Amino acid sequence: MNSIELNSLWGQIKEQLIDSLPENVHPWITPLEVSGYDNGVLTVVTGQLMGKDILRKKYYNDILKIIKKITHNDNSDIVILFDENAAKSIKKESEKLQKKQAEALQKEKAMENLSFMQSYSNLNLKYKFENFVVGKNNEFAYKVTRSVAENPSQKYNPLFIYGSSGLGKTHLMQAIGHYTIFKNPKLTVKYTKTEDYINDFITNSRNLKNSVENMSKFNKKYTNIDIILIDDIQFIESKNKTMLQMQHTFDSLYNKGKQIVITSDRLPKDIPTLTKALCTRFEQGLMVELVPPEKQNRFDILKKLAQDNGIQYEDSVLDYISEHFVNNVRELEGAFNRVSAYAEINSAPLTLELAKNVLKCDEQGNEIDFNKIAEVTSAFYSISSDELKGSSRNQKVSLARHIAIYLSRELTGKSFVNIAEYYNKKHPTILFAYDKVKNELLTNKDLVKTIREIKQALKVR
Ligand code: ADP
Ligand code: MG
Repeated sequence: MNSIELNSLWGQIKEQLIDSLPENVHPWITPLEVSGYDNGVLTVVTGQLMGKDILRKKYYNDILKIIKKITHNDNSDIVILFDENAAKSIKKESEKLQKKQAEALQKEKAMENLSFMQSYSNLNLKYKFENFVVGKNNEFAYKVTRSVAENPSQKYNPLFIYGSSGLGKTHLMQAIGHYTIFKNPKLTVKYTKTEDYINDFITNSRNLKNSVENMSKFNKKYTNIDIILIDDIQFIESKNKTMLQMQHTFDSLYNKGKQIVITSDRLPKDIPTLTKALCTRFEQGLMVELVPPEKQNRFDILKKLAQDNGIQYEDSVLDYISEHFVNNVRELEGAFNRVSAYAEINSAPLTLELAKNVLKCDEQGNEIDFNKIAEVTSAFYSISSDELKGSSRNQKVSLARHIAIYLSRELTGKSFVNIAEYYNKKHPTILFAYDKVKNELLTNKDLVKTIREIKQALKVR
């Protein structure tokens, strides 16, 4: 029998086998290959050791019956052999397939992850490591976040990033998210603002109808992930339930060895509403501070901003802006954006003169320090700087002191520790003053006006 005849014979037999044997046997039949037919004995090979055993032990008679029928030979027999080469090629094929499937799954997961992050969490595409300009002032924070992104849950867990507003906390935190989705799409990342977390919790726990189901969904959402990014934890409410829930989320992730990253405008111990339990948890990892940018960093940030947006500039313009906006990257960028928008709308070149006109900064530069704030505030209240920095509880003096403390934080971006040192006061006293003014500004119009006037005297907006 030549090979064509042999294959055709085997083709008929195989078809019959598939037709008459139960479906769960088909995976053992399909890979069978014919190798010979001599003296009524059909030899087939398989790369599946288990397939060989099963067919021989359980289906030998069924198979034989079909062979006899098709060959019209009552003396036919069948030998099923295991073939190592066939086994190897089967293994290779299935590995290839598995790899392909895994790759496809990874891709799908990455896309899912990405759209999830972007749509669900408003992840800002600008907030990537590539867009973060490193200088002496933020080098440590940058290196630490980068290391967390590369090796989550290894060394720094939780990572607590703190510093005043506009210094790049959210940017660095989200950079971890972006980096992770692209480099390791198997990991799931969730970015959440503390306020959103709280609202989500309240909505789900209040809805009595399906509260168990809702809470289990809530828990899944915040703990069935590999990296959680919780932004602005200082907004945590003092409500017991919210705190406990946050603690639960934290412990659940931490115990599973998941990475937790938190930002705050201050240290955990300086958040008055925070429970001791949460405070301890936040402090147990690494805490890194972001401080106001140095001159070179400010200049470099503007340079990148201009280049990325294809804006023609003179160095003197960047120099001028970075001399005048010193405490806060958001304001620094805001100033540059105002100037470049003005130039564009008026089709004018971006010159130093134009920048000066648009920004109308004080010629001396408005590098504001604690001294200047103390000086101007005490002059505003007609008291002396010594009184302001002293410990008098006179109403006017303590109001002036509170305002000076508030402005010291807002206008310099320096830490509460620095301010406490300057005023020679205990740390909680400084926090109390700052929070008091900040809260009162929400409702007290007179205070808003006063602060505006003092800022004008300081020549800042
Ligand atoms: P925070 O969360 O600390 O208030 P953000 O992360 O929102 O501050 O940063 C404010 C703005 O400044 C963002 O547009 C951010 O991209 C930008 N920014 C801050 N630091 C840098 C930096 N080192 N390089 C580039 N942009 C920065
Ligand atoms: Mg932020």
